[in-house]
Amino acid sequence: MASEIVKCIECGKEHSTSDIVYTCSGCGNLLEVSLPLRELDTETVRSAFDSRPLGVWRYREMLPEIACGPVSMDEGGTPLHRCSTLSERLGVAELYIKFDGMNPTGSFKDRGMTVGVSKAVDLGVRKVACASTGNTSASLAAYAGLASLRCVVIIPSGQIALGKLSQAMMHGAKVLAVRGNFDDAMELVILAGKELKLYVLNSVNPFRIEGQKTAAMEVCDQLGRAPDTLVIPVGNGGNSAAYWKGFSEYRQVGLTDAVPVIYGIQAEGAAPIARAFERGEERIDPVKEPETVATAIRIGNPANWKKTIRAIKSSGGTSITVTDEEIIEAQKMIARTEGLFVEPAAASSIAGLEKLLERGTVDSDQRIVCVATGHGLKDPDSAIRNSEKPVEIDPDMESLRAALGS
Ligand SMILES: *Cc1c(COP(=O)(O)O)cnc(C)c1O
Ligand SMILES: [Zn+2]
Repeated sequence: MASEIVKCIECGKEHSTSDIVYTCSGCGNLLEVSLPLRELDTETVRSAFDSRPLGVWRYREMLPEIACGPVSMDEGGTPLHRCSTLSERLGVAELYIKFDGMNPTGSFKDRGMTVGVSKAVDLGVRKVACASTGNTSASLAAYAGLASLRCVVIIPSGQIALGKLSQAMMHGAKVLAVRGNFDDAMELVILAGKELKLYVLNSVNPFRIEGQKTAAMEVCDQLGRAPDTLVIPVGNGGNSAAYWKGFSEYRQVGLTDAVPVIYGIQAEGAAPIARAFERGEERIDPVKEPETVATAIRIGNPANWKKTIRAIKSSGGTSITVTDEEIIEAQKMIARTEGLFVEPAAASSIAGLEKLLERGTVDSDQRIVCVATGHGLKDPDSAIRNSEKPVEIDPDMESLRAALGS
């Protein structure tokens, strides 16, 4: 059997999957895992997948080979929630939310970490590290604990949501808070990876993308076909690129016959990818001081910019921005009409969809999936800040009646 390789997205240079590399040794661009998918028989993989529960490892024939047995907590298999009230309100025929906040640590990052940390064990590394706006560190800390690896996470000081910070601390990671932003943390972890021999599990690690692509395959299996339109938040751009890889490979193997148009949503104050689309360039101008309530996508210099611009373009989509107010409004609307509590970054996909519908970019008769990337409990501060305060009353009916205005 032809074996899997890691390949440069620019010059095509091949690297061995047993080397620790994140960028091309020839030209410095990002790498992606290339699997011998041509050898897969559609019928055989279909029945293999169907014999297993929904989740990342259901798709193991389309994932990198892991010798040590996966480091897993049954990640993936998240709900594809049909939004009846919300679709009526937005005037669309069919709207779903892929609620990846229902993963073990509360975000889609677990899909990538189960593959990435399994690979780390295979490679024999003992120490793993990441830079993080929060969810990556929560997920890596949990999986490193599960695999008995030492874990260092580098976060921007004072800029990480409380739930996420508490997870990294509770799972026993060494938490380093840099006086700087995420982009500074990212630069530092890449240097630390080289100099201190830490295995870096940010989304520049191509094995993480492999795990994350399974979300697209799940969506196809849950719908019985590919959606027409996928709307997804974009921070570093790893997840949007992963979805595109998942949909494309599913079609390549013959498990679906179409791929969706992908729309990448960024926050107004942290939108280098959306700006690149506005200019029509395959190049970004990093944002020096990114700012948004959606901390998971507060990223000024996205590591995967080239991958995600190409993915979104190949799908026929584009990238647009939403404001913080639109994000918070969407977060409340999802919570109040569909019962789903998603974090601000996750709500940006619904905010983005509203805008795309208004502009006529997306038609109302499409089968639409919005990705909700993380759980609302991750960021209780933002939820409390943006909601009506509890009304304090005395413990008697008079006070209660007065408070209810009845
Ligand atoms: C990581 C994350 C994102 C951004 O994903 P990228 O792969 O960096 O584009 C969006 N939302 C949530 C909740 C996240 O944790
Ligand atoms: Zn190269």
